[in-house]
Amino acid sequence: MSSLDSVLAARALLTSLTPLKTDCGRLCEGACCHGDDATGMLLFPGEAALYEGCDFAKVIPAEFDLAGERAQLLVCGGHCERDNRPLACRLFPLYLKFLRSGRTKVKMDPRAAAVCPLTDYGVEALDSAFVDAARQAYDTLLGDETCARYLKELDEAFSL
Ligand code: SF4
Ligand code: SF4
Repeated sequence: MSSLDSVLAARALLTSLTPLKTDCGRLCEGACCHGDDATGMLLFPGEAALYEGCDFAKVIPAEFDLAGERAQLLVCGGHCERDNRPLACRLFPLYLKFLRSGRTKVKMDPRAAAVCPLTDYGVEALDSAFVDAARQAYDTLLGDETCARYLKELDEAFSL
């Protein structure tokens, strides 16, 4: 199983589930989909290949490396093919925290606080089916060496 296979399996777990059972985009007018030409969603290992020739977004390099390679961002125009949205969009506003015990915990992403009103209410306020699927998605990624390293370095980078 390649890293991309793991990413695709993680994406599949979050195809139809969203943070709330209702459309949370109505709370904020879809704030997480309104970036600009220089901001984007981080792509997971191998995922950039899925967006070659994409007509709703472009891939640009980030200014840092993850898992031994230059990280890649997907910059969209605020619309996408829902079935082809990247894993980072499916997991938003969650991220995986690595604990000193060696365990991991699904948490609200502090980087999301500036745009997402849900972050004020904690993971407990989200649809439990969504949180469970995110946990499964992270476990799938942790089963791949490169994706596990990517998640660990991502946590370390944003914990500094
Ligand atoms: S910013 Fe948060 S509340 Fe708004 S659409 Fe995105 S996930 Fe939902
Ligand atoms: S790719 Fe889709 S879900 Fe992700 S930020 Fe763009 S419009 Fe939103």
